[in-house]
Amino acid sequence: MDRKHIPLSVPNLKGKELEYVTQAIKTQWVSSGGPFVNEFEDQIANYVGAIGAVSVQNGTSGLHIALQVCGVTREDEVIVPALTFIAAVNPVKYIGADPIFMDCDESLCMDPFKLDEFCQEECRFVDGKLINLTTKKQIKAIIVVHVFGNMANMEMLMEIANRYNVQVVEDATEAIGTYYISGKYKGKYAGAIGAVGVYSFNGNKIITTGGGGMVVSNDVQMVKYAKHLTTQAKSDELYYLHDEIGYNYRMTNLQAALGLAQLEQLETFISIKKKNYLFYQQLLSDIQGLSLLSFNHQARNNYWFYALYIDDDRYTRSRDELINFFAANATQVRPIWGLIHEQKPYLHHQAYKIDRAKHYLEHVVNLPCSSNLESEEIAYIVNLLRN
Ligand SMILES: *Cc1c(COP(=O)(O)O)cnc(C)c1O
Repeated sequence: MDRKHIPLSVPNLKGKELEYVTQAIKTQWVSSGGPFVNEFEDQIANYVGAIGAVSVQNGTSGLHIALQVCGVTREDEVIVPALTFIAAVNPVKYIGADPIFMDCDESLCMDPFKLDEFCQEECRFVDGKLINLTTKKQIKAIIVVHVFGNMANMEMLMEIANRYNVQVVEDATEAIGTYYISGKYKGKYAGAIGAVGVYSFNGNKIITTGGGGMVVSNDVQMVKYAKHLTTQAKSDELYYLHDEIGYNYRMTNLQAALGLAQLEQLETFISIKKKNYLFYQQLLSDIQGLSLLSFNHQARNNYWFYALYIDDDRYTRSRDELINFFAANATQVRPIWGLIHEQKPYLHHQAYKIDRAKHYLEHVVNLPCSSNLESEEIAYIVNLLRN
């Protein structure tokens, strides 16, 4: 069949992107100074209900900063998910600290029950420090990823982290716009619940600045420190004195111009993504052995990525057969990420009873989910699944 290729997730630049970028160019503010950067930081902080936001070059650099702001050093350990994009874990190693891998629950986010069990059985809590019995090192932080825009179980995760005096870094790179609609955190946004949160504006995320990210916190000192680290740790502006090793991580005005235009459309993108998710779900409902994984019912999720679950006892094709079949029909579907504790750089790190992550990796593919996806394309995709 002759039809245009359907990609997994591409940017939607139909708003004021060109207008704002043109303005940045005309005023010659193209680099990391410039009014759009501050404006974008303020608007993001406002939108997610954080005291402050600090722009960064991408989500990965944001996570690097977030860990340092939480006081993680090379002596420490950080609990991380096994099922995630590797950029959620690499910053732990940039610092020289070590990750401990944790399993996921049915939401694909970190399993709070296993986390609790690990803290109780594999660690000791002494003098306000959570010590890993295997390595005798302190566990300083947990990185919680809101996978595919789905709110992780923050109620339980925060309770455990608080009990053991461990900082929570929220990798909300995929989850801007997701917030609780009930429970203890009603009205709170993914990324603005833990000590520090990080968003990404990479090209495949729900809003994009080409490449870019944001670090947010409700702790004024943490916001200040993040800004300090991202701008070369300058302690004197005039004489160029620096009090520690900083980074050149600040976003440029060109990126922020794109970001402001994208943020204006975020709510629209979320409602389109939700509508498309429900349409997929409706069309899939009569296919044996296929279903979309659900989002957290306690939250208004951003529906960034759709996860198709394949029950291979009831459906004819395996995950890989499905991926190849779609590729042959000009449609991009993708397996979830290879588990991080099984990747070469992490083979020798501690991993705690990881089994659900393996199961989901083998049974899930992501379906096309761009906000400019047509309903006719969704119908085409589901028809392929019927064949
Ligand atoms: C995209 C992503 C990142 C990294 O963001 P970049 O802006 O691409 O550096 C980190 N963690 C997760 C879970 C992501 O999906």
